[in-house]
Amino acid sequence: MKMEKNLIESMGEKYEEFLIDESKYRGYADSISFPESEEQVCQILRQMKERKIPVTIQGGKTGIVGGAVPHGGHILNLSRMNRVLDWEKCSTGEIYITVEPGIPLMDLKKEVLRLFGKEKVFWPVQPTEESATVGGVAATSAQGPNGYWYGKSSQYIAKVRMACAGGEIVEFDREKDAQKLESLLGLEGLAGVFTALTLRLVKKPEDVWGICFFFEKEEELADFSDALNGRKWENQEAHLSLKEYLDRDTIKMIQRRKQDMAKIRELPDVDEDFDGMIYLELEGSSDCMEELAADLMELAAEHGSDPDVAWALSGEAEVEKLRAFRHAAAESANLRVEANRKETPEITKLSTDFIWEGREFSKLLKFYRQELAQTSIESAVFGHLESGHLHVNLFPQTEQEYQKACELLRTWAQNCVSERGKAVGEHGVGKLKKTILRGLYPERENLCRELKRLYDPEFLMNREDVLDREE
Ligand SMILES: Cc1cc2nc3c(=O)[nH]c(=O)nc-3n(C[C@H](O)[C@H](O)[C@H](O)COP(=O)(O)OP(=O)(O)OC[C@H]3O[C@@H](n4cnc5c(N)ncnc54)[C@H](O)[C@@H]3O)c2cc1C
Repeated sequence: MKMEKNLIESMGEKYEEFLIDESKYRGYADSISFPESEEQVCQILRQMKERKIPVTIQGGKTGIVGGAVPHGGHILNLSRMNRVLDWEKCSTGEIYITVEPGIPLMDLKKEVLRLFGKEKVFWPVQPTEESATVGGVAATSAQGPNGYWYGKSSQYIAKVRMACAGGEIVEFDREKDAQKLESLLGLEGLAGVFTALTLRLVKKPEDVWGICFFFEKEEELADFSDALNGRKWENQEAHLSLKEYLDRDTIKMIQRRKQDMAKIRELPDVDEDFDGMIYLELEGSSDCMEELAADLMELAAEHGSDPDVAWALSGEAEVEKLRAFRHAAAESANLRVEANRKETPEITKLSTDFIWEGREFSKLLKFYRQELAQTSIESAVFGHLESGHLHVNLFPQTEQEYQKACELLRTWAQNCVSERGKAVGEHGVGKLKKTILRGLYPERENLCRELKRLYDPEFLMNREDVLDREE
């Protein structure tokens, strides 16, 4: 029993922080481990299987649907598996790096810079929260704002090694079986634990610019967004890589927290008259970006945004400040949920993550505004302009409001699905959305069930996530 003593510890007060993630949903568990190698992961899983103990996998715990929150059983926390294992520069010029799953995105960034500073490459999967781990990102298929240009995060994962429920290792290589690999990414840990991931790095753009346009009238902002969505913004050597929306409530929420957020403190205050902002990034050569930026300025001015009050910054270091402002939207929302929980501990994060393929942005925003006007629940709306992928954050303050907010999310999801949209985007289902969105993600459910049968028929891995257990 040496292994058990060393690797598996009983839960106690010192492990309280592992019962909750950024969804603020709280769970419970009997034991926890912090494996430092694939071999240790396999040992633990073998032991758990023998005893039929369910296992909850944890990366950085930045997930916002309660996927990494335990419901009894064992917590397998991967934070100590955080090393770079290998890398390869192919004759074709492509660069791959193999990492352990628990490496946080901020450390990956540093390692890539250290190893390939000269080659000027990066991993373009950026769900903005840099303490998220590569394993967690792969398990949720998280993407973030720049997914507009860079596309699905899974395409930047070339290989994975996965420990199944009984501790057996399976390997998937995009070159040999892309379909199988693709099906396991975004599966929210239902089939097993990613123990190593090979990431494809891509060339950094020559330069990057960030522009924030402010609007006094939401209708004008919405029309600008439709016009923006209506055409491709690219020329020979430059393109629009990101287009994001932040509403008045979001801006106010950030302003209130600004002094506590070092990265955005230096930015000017946003005038209270503004009803919202659009944040855009351009990538490419300076000359070509200039052409695109001039067209964008003109379009924004036509829709009532004064180019003289726009924020425009160039170069990665400067643009980071604008990205930090966008990231502060999500951070401030989560802090607000945390504050509301002090009075009503049942409260969790509640936000939309629906993909409305068919609806114009202006119509979608109008729909949400009409819906929000009928409730007293406070809200903040921000997110991706493309495909109406907005995150409407609801901030209930009482248990009654919380129930109402869950009902609202469900009704909107039904609406979205009835228009051939998707009820689940980049955040996953986890435990929280399983209840709220039950029956509204049949394709994902079928795939999860199929792979569960194959890799974890006893439902030991992330047992309460995404699926109801078959009796
Ligand atoms: C302020 C803030 C901003 C955010 N912005 C974005 C955004 O823009 N876009 C976006 O998509 N998300 C965003 N997120 C959500 C979150 O960062 C992502 O979901 C991220 O992928 C979670 O990674 P993690 O390491 O924290 O995973 P965790 O929260 O620990 O786990 C998430 C899920 O992955 C599973 N898992 C973790 N590691 C493994 C592994 N090695 N093998 C198998 N399964 C595993 C867990 O069991 C769980 O189901 C944001 C979160 C915060 C707090």
